[in-house]
Amino acid sequence: MIHYGQQHIDDTDKKAILDVLDSDFLTQGPKSLEFESKLAHTFNARHAVAVNSATSALHIACLSLGLGPDDYAWTVPNTFVASANSVLMCGANVNFVDIDLNTYNISIDLLEEKLKEAYKQGNLPKIIIPVHFSGEPCDMEKINNLKLKYGFSIIEDASHAVGAKYKCGSVVGSNKYCDITVLSFHPVKIITTGEGGACLTNNPVLAKNLKKFSSHGITRDPEDFHDKSNGLWYYEQNQLGYNYRITDIQSALGISQLNKIDSFLKKRKILAAEYDKLLADEDVVKPIYSKGSALHLYVIKLKNNKFREKIFTEMRKSNIGVNVHYFPVHLQPYYKLLGFKRGMFPQAETYSDVCLTLPLHPKLEFNDLNFVVDNLLRHLK
Ligand SMILES: *Cc1c(COP(=O)(O)O)cnc(C)c1O
Repeated sequence: MIHYGQQHIDDTDKKAILDVLDSDFLTQGPKSLEFESKLAHTFNARHAVAVNSATSALHIACLSLGLGPDDYAWTVPNTFVASANSVLMCGANVNFVDIDLNTYNISIDLLEEKLKEAYKQGNLPKIIIPVHFSGEPCDMEKINNLKLKYGFSIIEDASHAVGAKYKCGSVVGSNKYCDITVLSFHPVKIITTGEGGACLTNNPVLAKNLKKFSSHGITRDPEDFHDKSNGLWYYEQNQLGYNYRITDIQSALGISQLNKIDSFLKKRKILAAEYDKLLADEDVVKPIYSKGSALHLYVIKLKNNKFREKIFTEMRKSNIGVNVHYFPVHLQPYYKLLGFKRGMFPQAETYSDVCLTLPLHPKLEFNDLNFVVDNLLRHLK
């Protein structure tokens, strides 16, 4: 099987894990702290809080920004369900902004329109969660300008965009345009810890809260105590948190993977350029991506839905792991029960009917890529 995405693990990764297994701490030891400081350094953020998934990271990011039952948060339909679920996990209301049909990211024009309307109706969102789909950063400068006007907070869901750069050259995670950036380390993403994720922020108060929410709402910082400490053993739970901690085993793998991120990104770029070249004169819509994209996904568009289904079935029969990113979140049965319907976000729906993700990951060989393209072209004719 040629997978659409897959981890790249080598001997240094394996050794890093074995070293932890021989050490004193499997969790809450030195490797987790080292991973967090390496994350902060790599992505140019002041603080990093590593957790057990990006879903957990999104949840504590929403909590730390104060999202609660009467609030609204908006994201896009063209994403993994977790981006929207994190809002519901806080008991808040979720809504969506349709995508731009060139980048498949949030449409800035539609966002602005929806904000104007929400302002009139008095239900402005507390948080906007733009998703850097396929590794291509959203136009954060424009979203940040709208933030200054309307006063919401921003969580960038950078699950696809670990190592990506904005147009201005700053690295995603530096929080130039947002309050918190969320990364995923699931095996299909840019780097992996098995399961894992992180929040990056430049705000020390948010950093402290993120850490606390990730570990039961417990603090050992005397400055943060509500009651008087009555001994060196003393710790305090003063809010409701979760056990979202990452282990030292995962963190050791994460440190080792971070050392290779540049070579992973470079390989993705070379493979994407090869797809671009081989598909140049063919009857498919190729992805538009910038120099700074992390190229997590290489997504093409086909002429119609029936044709997509046919090609999908044929390629899967040939053991090619093509995929669909994404079936729109608002059309999931759970979201339809909340009142969302087909027709509400037509651009994400149209896109979803014809998109096809081709395999792209750092272990993909050129002969595999050629096999994928030959197979695709055979069915296109
Ligand atoms: C993968 C992904 C997530 C969730 O990541 P996990 O680490 O698996 O929890 C969230 N948002 C997007 C856009 C993703 O692709």
